[in-house]
Amino acid sequence: MDNMTFVLFGGTGDLAKRKIYPALYNLFIDKKMPEAFSIIALGRREQSSADFQQNVAKSLQTFSRRTVNDPAVLEAFLQTIRYTVLDANQVEDYHKLRSLVESREQELNIPQNRMFYLSVAPEFFDVIALNIKDSGLGSTSGWKRLIIEKPFGHDLQSARHLNEQLSKAFDESEVYRIDHYLGKPMVQNLEILESSNPILKALWSNHHIANVQITASETVGVEERAGYYDNSGAIRDMVQNHLLQVLMMVSMRLPGRGDANEVRMKKKNVMQSLRPLQKEDIAKNVIRGQYAAGQMQGKPVPGYLDEPGVPAGSKNDTFIATRLWIDNYFWSDVPFYIRTGKRMKEKSTRIVIEFKEPLKGQNTTNDPNLLVIEINPNEGIFMQLNKKNPRNDSKLEPMRIHFHENGKDVPEAYENLIFDAVRGDSTFFAHWDEVELSWQYVQPILDAFEEDSVPLHQYPAGSNGPEASDQLLAEDGFKWWLDT
Ligand code: NAD
Repeated sequence: MDNMTFVLFGGTGDLAKRKIYPALYNLFIDKKMPEAFSIIALGRREQSSADFQQNVAKSLQTFSRRTVNDPAVLEAFLQTIRYTVLDANQVEDYHKLRSLVESREQELNIPQNRMFYLSVAPEFFDVIALNIKDSGLGSTSGWKRLIIEKPFGHDLQSARHLNEQLSKAFDESEVYRIDHYLGKPMVQNLEILESSNPILKALWSNHHIANVQITASETVGVEERAGYYDNSGAIRDMVQNHLLQVLMMVSMRLPGRGDANEVRMKKKNVMQSLRPLQKEDIAKNVIRGQYAAGQMQGKPVPGYLDEPGVPAGSKNDTFIATRLWIDNYFWSDVPFYIRTGKRMKEKSTRIVIEFKEPLKGQNTTNDPNLLVIEINPNEGIFMQLNKKNPRNDSKLEPMRIHFHENGKDVPEAYENLIFDAVRGDSTFFAHWDEVELSWQYVQPILDAFEEDSVPLHQYPAGSNGPEASDQLLAEDGFKWWLDT
């Protein structure tokens, strides 16, 4: 791994404190950082590097996965950090930053390998990228890389515009777009699960799979984020990025363990095979919901419209269920169902693969075989098979074989992703083609919502979403599995 500088824009922000410093610190403990590296944190308020290091220490005490109990290791980590003030719009600030980066490179004898992490609001993405270029910070004799977080655009047009701007300063191969779902261990496991298990590989197609269900449900409501969320909704916040990425990961067919380029190509193939939604199909295939007042764990909670900051009469979607078709050799005629919502009964991200019933006409139960991949909060896999019940006249009944990852020592998504970016492996990042094709898929839905041509179903907080979402699967003879 190359020695390098890690420049963190938004170094005083919430994401930096909760995720990025803890990730860097845990990687440092695991000896997964380069031998020599320098972290330059940027914020808007004047403070000394020494004071800032103490703030980072506090964040680590609160948010690190591992307890911070070795003062020497902590100190060694903190000593890699320098803090300086930068206003994203001030070109002079980038020149000062460049001097600091260069002086640390000389001090530590680090080549000009520079990672720029933009943990700032999206309106700064292009400004910062262009200023990195114009100030000469990006003209290095080593490599340069850019890490950005969602949201990547607000619709197809703005995403394309943003990409054009970024590409003036960074080549596509230098851009690492974080989708933290791709950093989750069980999502990273999907390609291995399929490609290294002959029994699954053999069944992984429309010959044996009846349908695939991807759910990401939250119990929380909009919380303090109405300003952002009311302009975004579940479709932009979850479907366009995270859920379509999970769909790509579960449905791409790799001949073996793929490298970043192969994965990128296979994911793109999936998106190119997604059947586009025609205007008249949208209301039939997309269920839009918004939570009404209800009960969460026995306590009453308000509906979306009564949450602080939500504009009166908002038609924003807090729930989406949709049916998709991948028209390719492997998946034609297999419906994929995606569902996400706030204020749902259960917090869970999971994939359910329902197998077909090849034993029709014999002594079978109604229970199909299921493969369930639990992504969050419990990482695990279970398989539903059928067996005889010796106590009940040998009637067939389902049994579930469980595997649970002991989550204690498992690296967090941000650790996996930063580690990969530092060593230049873009397998588990969202590449531009995927992002653009995802927006292309979602854009007609955004337009239909804008025109209000899709019904907005209310669902009580604490439920599994609107009944229309159950109906969507019932039309095809299926149901959402594992709803309690
Ligand atoms: P935040 O408001 O806590 O922090 C914003 C940071 O940007 C601060 O360090 C601030 O100093 C800096 N900043 C603001 N204006 C600036 C300017 N003019 N010049 C330079 N720096 C400026 O926000 P956050 O929660 O840390 O989120 C950062 C980004 O990450 C956002 O785009 C957000 O959508 C995204 N994100 C956040 C989370 C999360 O869990 N917080 C998760 C996923 C994505």
